[in-house]
Amino acid sequence: MLTIALSKGRILEQTLPLLAAAGIVPAEDPEASRKLVLETSRDDVRLVIVRASDVPTYVAHGGADLGVAGKDVLLEHGGQGLYEPLDLRIARCRLMVAGPPGAAMDRRRLRVATKFVNITRRHFAARGRQVELIKLYGSMELAPLVGLADCIVDLVDTGGTLRANGLEPLEHIADISSRLVANKASMKIKHRRVQPLLQRLREAVAAAAA
Ligand code: AMP
Repeated sequence: MLTIALSKGRILEQTLPLLAAAGIVPAEDPEASRKLVLETSRDDVRLVIVRASDVPTYVAHGGADLGVAGKDVLLEHGGQGLYEPLDLRIARCRLMVAGPPGAAMDRRRLRVATKFVNITRRHFAARGRQVELIKLYGSMELAPLVGLADCIVDLVDTGGTLRANGLEPLEHIADISSRLVANKASMKIKHRRVQPLLQRLREAVAAAAA
């Protein structure tokens, strides 16, 4: 049996066509179903539905053999115990520092609100800048508006959310897309199941890009 961990929303929506091209179709609609384990058109493949930020943990510890996670989640997690064999080139966006126009980025101790505390710490440390991290779980854009932070680190796609809140992108941290991740032991032990699936996904990604 091969278990693939996915999260609902953008990733699921954009991963299902790639899985379908690889011959894997869920037995019921994962967005509508409340089931956390879904059978598929293949007897030897099942899907498990987890929170996006839990995908690396499930896969690293063998709760799933494969998973799909945003590069943002992988950078934040650290990626220990995981292989990252394929860039699926979906759910693409950028991880950015953003703030009000003319934000005083040269403050001696910048207050940065984000849910990506590890990435943010590394980004500013690499530039020799001391920051005070304010961990939030959502709606980061609000923090500078109410004086909770000087700037934020968040995902930006169209930039619409920033603009709607009077913020602008200030520094680029990383280009983001979703990646297929694999448990290291599964890659060896389940090699004969994983490799053909990987190959078909690779072809589906190439076809989607063409
Ligand atoms: P936008 O307004 O198009 O720039 O989108 C920004 C909002 O969508 C932010 O709240 C982001 O957290 C979220 N977002 C954008 N792209 C992604 C993505 N690929 N994965 C997860 N969240 C995203």
